[in-house]
Parts: sequence; C-alpha cells; structure tokens
Amino acid sequence: MKSPGAGAVAVIAAMEHVVKAPVWDCRMCGQCVLHSTGMTCPMTCPKTLRNGPCGGVREDGNCEVVPDMRCVWVKAHDRAEHMPLLPKSWRLHIRDLRPPVDNSLAGTSSWVNLVTKRDQQTPAGWIGAHAP
Ligand code: SF4
Repeated sequence: MKSPGAGAVAVIAAMEHVVKAPVWDCRMCGQCVLHSTGMTCPMTCPKTLRNGPCGGVREDGNCEVVPDMRCVWVKAHDRAEHMPLLPKSWRLHIRDLRPPVDNSLAGTSSWVNLVTKRDQQTPAGWIGAHAP
C-alpha cells in the first residue's frame, strides 16, 4: 500500500488527537492498544506500563505514584470485564502480552501506523508476542 503524504499524515494525526485526547486522555504513543486494555490508555499510567500494574498498587486500588488517582490497570481490568458494548474478543485481549512501546513512534498517528503496519514492528529478540 502506498504511504500517505506528509501533509495527509499530519492532518490524520491532528484528527486523531482531537478525537482521542478528550475521551481517553490519549498521549499519541503511535501504537494504540485501547481495544486490549478495556479502552483505558496505558500511557496515562505514570510508569507507562503496557502489561499490567506494578507492584505498588495501594490497597484502595489507587496508584502509588499519584495517590488520588485510580490505578490505570485496576480501571483497565474493571472495564475489560464490565464495560457495555465491548466486543468479547476485545475483553479477552487484556490477557495478551503487549510488546514494549516503540518510543520512536511518539507523537505519530496510531491510525496511520495501523494501516502501514509500522505499529507491528517489534524490537529485535522480541519473541512470542503479538503486535497491538
Ligand atoms: S494511541 Fe497510545 S497514547 Fe493514544 S490512546 Fe492509544 S494507547 Fe493511549
């Protein structure tokens, strides 16, 4: 598939930001995994963990770094189980092992990266994981 031009890419990235920032607090990581995290953006975790919570979740389910914030992964698991209209296959994706975030994609459009499959490139040596 022919890659879109730079102007089109910039417009798509701007559109993605306008749509996703207010709804999901999207940080434009360029590799969207919302469908596999109960529609909860893992980049809003202070540690940007993509595969579940750290060991510091407080007893009340809040974050050890930001004590008045619900742990992103507690929210993700709750939503993956209970969010209405979430397809069953997406609910099960929360069990998937996600590859490390590719920081070279920061600020780019995950929509474009999905179409071009750029978001499926994983680090050398990464085995047994599926791209987002
Ligand atoms: S593109 Fe990345 S930062 Fe934005 S909502 Fe998806 S996972 Fe979060």
